[in-house]
Amino acid sequence: MIIMEQKPFEEILSFLKDEKSIFIVGCAQCATVCKVGGEEEVKAMKDKLESQGKKVSGWVVIDPACQSVEVKKNFQANKDKITSSDAILVMACGNGIQSVKDSAERIKMAKPVHPGCNTLFLGEVVRAGYFEEKCSLCGDCLLEVTGGICPVTRCSKGLLNGPCGGSSEGKCEVDPERDCGWALIYEELKKRGKLDRMKAIQPAKDHSKLIKPRTLTLGS
Ligand code: SF4
Ligand code: SF4
Repeated sequence: MIIMEQKPFEEILSFLKDEKSIFIVGCAQCATVCKVGGEEEVKAMKDKLESQGKKVSGWVVIDPACQSVEVKKNFQANKDKITSSDAILVMACGNGIQSVKDSAERIKMAKPVHPGCNTLFLGEVVRAGYFEEKCSLCGDCLLEVTGGICPVTRCSKGLLNGPCGGSSEGKCEVDPERDCGWALIYEELKKRGKLDRMKAIQPAKDHSKLIKPRTLTLGS
């Protein structure tokens, strides 16, 4: 899932300094799990904005904010409130924020859209309130040869062909608090009797797969 944090309230308030009436959009999926854009946080944001003299014309938590059809459906259902607003504050990931903006434009309900969150990484929910980055979306997955541990993400230098030499007692030289990704890969391959995979040379990443923005059409 997408991991994010809420922006400091003072920063959000500065975005809204020229706008009186705000419609708030949250997201029922990742932003809810991260506790930055679910119903609870959206209502808390409404109260805080109103305490600063802003009018909150309405709010909605979309399931999810990154799905155009859901944004359009929710916007049509709140048409009057959105039309009467000066701007929309979106408490979701950067993808959700832009999806809300673009979907609103497609149904001729465009408004200035402000971000309420900082999007951090793609990660695992290890336990409630604790998230770990696991994949950098490189477009050419190497997990088969690295024992299911991503060197692009879990090695601080993103090395593809073994450790850098700075690892000490299984920890990374960049941050001794972190495990060395390549030490983890080594231990995993050893456990599986697949250490010979360490000898295979991985070619440099094909960065043409990273040219952005990327799109995908199923069935093509
Ligand atoms: S190699 Fe790592 S960054 Fe690339 S797709 Fe696989 S898990 Fe993600
Ligand atoms: S110590 Fe390990 S994780 Fe850190 S940069 Fe070197 S190989 Fe990568």
